[in-house]
Amino acid sequence: MKESIKHLKSYEPETSVEEVKAEYHLDRIVRLSANENPYGTSPKVKEAILNWGFDGNYYPDSESKVLRNQIANYWSLSPDQLIFGVGLDEILELISRTFLTPGDEVVVPDPTFSEYALHAEIEGAKVVKVPINAETGHNDWSAMTKAVTQQTKLVWLCNPNNPTGVIESRADIQAFLDQVPSDTLVLVDEAYMDFADGAQDMTCFPLLSQYPNLAVLRTFSKAYGLAGFRVGFIAMAPQLAQYMQMIRLPYNIPTVSQIAAQAAFADQVFVDQVVAKNRVERQRWMDFFDQMGVKYFPSQTNFIYYRVDDEQGLAEALLSQGYQIRRGFQTHWLRNTIGLSADNDQMMAITKEFLKA
Ligand SMILES: *Cc1c(COP(=O)(O)O)cnc(C)c1O
Repeated sequence: MKESIKHLKSYEPETSVEEVKAEYHLDRIVRLSANENPYGTSPKVKEAILNWGFDGNYYPDSESKVLRNQIANYWSLSPDQLIFGVGLDEILELISRTFLTPGDEVVVPDPTFSEYALHAEIEGAKVVKVPINAETGHNDWSAMTKAVTQQTKLVWLCNPNNPTGVIESRADIQAFLDQVPSDTLVLVDEAYMDFADGAQDMTCFPLLSQYPNLAVLRTFSKAYGLAGFRVGFIAMAPQLAQYMQMIRLPYNIPTVSQIAAQAAFADQVFVDQVVAKNRVERQRWMDFFDQMGVKYFPSQTNFIYYRVDDEQGLAEALLSQGYQIRRGFQTHWLRNTIGLSADNDQMMAITKEFLKA
């Protein structure tokens, strides 16, 4: 066994809905702990899968060519800038596997998505955590810049950030890029960018041509509602992408997942509808927390991060009535995925009751 994994705290996947139902004796569980899409999946995905020729006896297209060309065209990228993964998860792992050796340093804001640090630790790299501004939830850019040393191989930025939901402007990210050595790779995980207001002006895709040490990551699991199909990708300079290409498993993306992602990507109308509905419900949560005097960070995602004194008690109260949310990031903080309107009504009522008690 590698020395680096002896004391590792691994990622905790969601308990299955069936298990939670059995444990709490509930008929219905609404899982709002993993930022899955409560509006489902584009009907075009089901249609495409039913029309698939079921040629599952053949290996999938190793290059995911159709999907690759769709995405490259949409974002004005060259197809050789893209690497696909079995979920963005696989890309996060592949990045660390490709670029890190023991002793390297990796800079991450804190809190952020835990998988960046996990994979760095597996490779024996040192993780340098830079606390976010506790008041605003924004990155402390000057501390981030200071944390970057000669040993820093990777800097992870999650934008908008998970679990805070806070978004950084493209201008701030660009200013940071201008401070970072050109051999430090800056990774911008845009898993939730689809949900941001003015997402086209916030995404870092347009910076790729200017910064060969920048990479932008996206997933089909959230706004596209394909979490069960496992498709994500990274866009980066072709010179770097070629190394990832050499290391990834040749047939990683199953044919049926490629078909699902192609159909989902072609149906931007569905994504726009999801984003619009989420925006309305997200605002309701922020208004609710304002009314209740609950501290939260302004969300540009499909979840909201907020502070309550008895966070375990509230999480239990919600779960006992069928609403599973996420705890365990920072003491006193909880994260709710933004659910359907009727479920949000229920959750707000439970929360209000709990906070009054
Ligand atoms: C959900 C999530 C991912 C992983 O998504 P998959 O494509 O489902 O593996 C990556 N980054 C962040 C920040 C996420 O929240």
